[in-house]
Amino acid sequence: MNDASGLNATPAFSHRVLGPNSDESIIAALRAELKSAASQNRPVVVGAARHSMGGQSLARNGAAITFAAPKCEPDRAAGVYRVQAGTRWHEAIQVMDPLGHSPAVMQSNSDFGIASTFSVGAHGWAVPYGPFGSTVRSIRLMLADGSIMSCSRSENAELFSMAMGGYGLVGIVLDLDIDVVPNTFMRPSYERMSADALSERFVRRLSDPAVKMMYGRLNVARADFFTEALLVSYRVDPTPAGGLPPVARHGALTGLTRSVYRSQIGSESAKRARWLAETQGAPRLGSGVTTRNTLLNEPVANLGASPAARTDILHEYFVPPARFNAFLAACREIIPKAKAEFLNVTLRSVAQDDMSVLSYATTDRIAAVMSFSQVMTAEGEADMLLMTEALIERVATLGGAYYLPYRLHARVDQFHRVYAGAARFTQRKRHYDPGLLFRNALWDNYLAA
Ligand SMILES: Cc1cc2nc3c(=O)[nH]c(=O)nc-3n(C[C@H](O)[C@H](O)[C@H](O)COP(=O)(O)OP(=O)(O)OC[C@H]3O[C@@H](n4cnc5c(N)ncnc54)[C@H](O)[C@@H]3O)c2cc1C
Repeated sequence: MNDASGLNATPAFSHRVLGPNSDESIIAALRAELKSAASQNRPVVVGAARHSMGGQSLARNGAAITFAAPKCEPDRAAGVYRVQAGTRWHEAIQVMDPLGHSPAVMQSNSDFGIASTFSVGAHGWAVPYGPFGSTVRSIRLMLADGSIMSCSRSENAELFSMAMGGYGLVGIVLDLDIDVVPNTFMRPSYERMSADALSERFVRRLSDPAVKMMYGRLNVARADFFTEALLVSYRVDPTPAGGLPPVARHGALTGLTRSVYRSQIGSESAKRARWLAETQGAPRLGSGVTTRNTLLNEPVANLGASPAARTDILHEYFVPPARFNAFLAACREIIPKAKAEFLNVTLRSVAQDDMSVLSYATTDRIAAVMSFSQVMTAEGEADMLLMTEALIERVATLGGAYYLPYRLHARVDQFHRVYAGAARFTQRKRHYDPGLLFRNALWDNYLAA
């Protein structure tokens, strides 16, 4: 098996896809898998889209389980939706849209599993939210012994705080009760500025209650690298007399055609052209008014396929706003020296998360999501590793964090410096899973020892 990076070919003992069966039969199948794996001392790992990039959804010679059982139902009395673990976001949105609802928080792409989103502690670009887990009311979690625990902030809270951003290491999420908000028309406004002016403006826009979604971009052409910024904020627009149009599955965040995005590989002029299109073309082209659900329903395919022998690798850094300009200076110094092609950076807000044991937002953060195209060779790997280590070093010094679902290129000491809750996580995981049934590459590399 492999994940989206294409760099993690891992032998699996078995791979079971749990399709659209009844709740009871899924639970029975999971219990049988856990029992059999325990008797053979094999690890168990669950995944959905396997878009994590460092073997977080893979276990060497393990029993792999893929949840592929979409189910999403409103619970009108509780004002939440109950979603089965493997449901992808675009499937949930299809259910919510006709009922006038929209996920309160989800990542920028809708192909991913909803339990995965909780398990990596993912965040989105709706404001003023923290990670997705802050909008999850409760989960049902199957522990290593097959027992099922209901977990929330008030019930089995420790398990909830370890499962949120815990990469499937304490148990298998069966389903989640998640918050929604009204689906609305959203109107963007575009502001251009120097990159060094961005963080102050970003924080100011966050304090405007009318702003409901927001992202930033920086230019990535080497000549003007990270010197100019674009901030796009969305406010609610009145619903037209005929009501809202149904959700479309093309998204709106990328704002680029696949070919323009891909043509940036090896072409500085394409990067400059893209920046012009995004900062000058898009604001002039129509109003950009669309529904919240259409904004969220962006498929990964919008980024286009990576050319053969290359792979797209993401990084993400979470920076205290007051240190953001020092972070930009570090990026200007470190990134252009690397051979990897820098394709994109998107900036988001993540509010403080005091819930997850492995929290990356111990204070409010500006998140910088970076996308690189890397050659799939030992040289390409070494180049990426050196750059990542250097960036993490600087971010850690600034009091920030890096994100865990990507390549496992941080040094072990860097991981523990950034994730202060890691030792407690390991200790309590050993309590809940004494046979260490739930293991993956993240556990093996950083937490096991
Ligand atoms: C193009 C792209 C855009 C992205 N945008 C964002 C973004 O905007 N914000 C953000 O925060 N992240 C973002 N990410 C990261 C993304 O959220 C994670 O990679 C996420 O894990 C992807 O979901 P998945 O279904 O592929 O997860 P998988 O890779 O299948 O699984 C991820 C982890 O969750 C665990 N897991 C999965 N299902 C369960 C379950 N039922 N019970 C327990 N554990 C489980 C797995 O074991 C694994 O450790 C992005 C990634 C990509 C590639």
